[in-house]
Amino acid sequence: MIITIDGPAGVGKTTVGKLTAEKLGMGFLDTGIMYRALTWFLINKNLEDDSIDKIKSHLENLNFDLNITNIDFTTVSINKINVTKLLNSPEVEKYVSKISSFKEVREIMVKKQREIVYDSSSVVVGRDIGTIVLPNARSKFYLTASAEERAKRRFSQNSEKVPYPKVLKELKERDNSDMSRKYSPLKVPQNALIIDTEKKNIHQVSDEIIEKINYESS
Ligand code: C5P
Repeated sequence: MIITIDGPAGVGKTTVGKLTAEKLGMGFLDTGIMYRALTWFLINKNLEDDSIDKIKSHLENLNFDLNITNIDFTTVSINKINVTKLLNSPEVEKYVSKISSFKEVREIMVKKQREIVYDSSSVVVGRDIGTIVLPNARSKFYLTASAEERAKRRFSQNSEKVPYPKVLKELKERDNSDMSRKYSPLKVPQNALIIDTEKKNIHQVSDEIIEKINYESS
């Protein structure tokens, strides 16, 4: 069984997805870390501002390794460099939406994501999971909350001490870029249940997801 959870930055997809997977005894895949890993790699090669034509040749020989040992711990290596701890830097946050908008990048990622969860029972979270990656998934969810609330959550978690107005501004920019891009924009998948998380904690959201799944299978 596959459960998809899509939604904008800071809405709690990863935390809710992990919790739900744990409660249901399922696997978990956060697709955002894959785009972040590639972005880190391109920044490291000073290619972050380049066009897709320049980036393309680097994508072809990319050795991308995702090692999901358990729900709480996924290691990501790119050309044998372990980048797991480097994915939340301000530089990665700044460029990840741009890099994710390229069709060539998405094709590689979507193929890889389908391979990872093939024949498994998993909760998969991202921006295009219910629409493009796994449109036939049995249960689809879309989480929402205002940009202000999501920025507040991000602000309270951030260890880099980025001021709240900056967190909010960057989050809105990422929303805009993820929702308006040409290929696989963030949108509500067909047949997805929309859950407004504004005034709910992660347990309430996860319980709502599980309730819907139980209802569907009863
Ligand atoms: O979810 P997270 O904030 O880690 O995602 C980082 C970025 O990766 C998103 O802002 C989006 O640009 C991109 N992404 C995507 N498709 C996904 C997951 C993430 O385009 N399935």
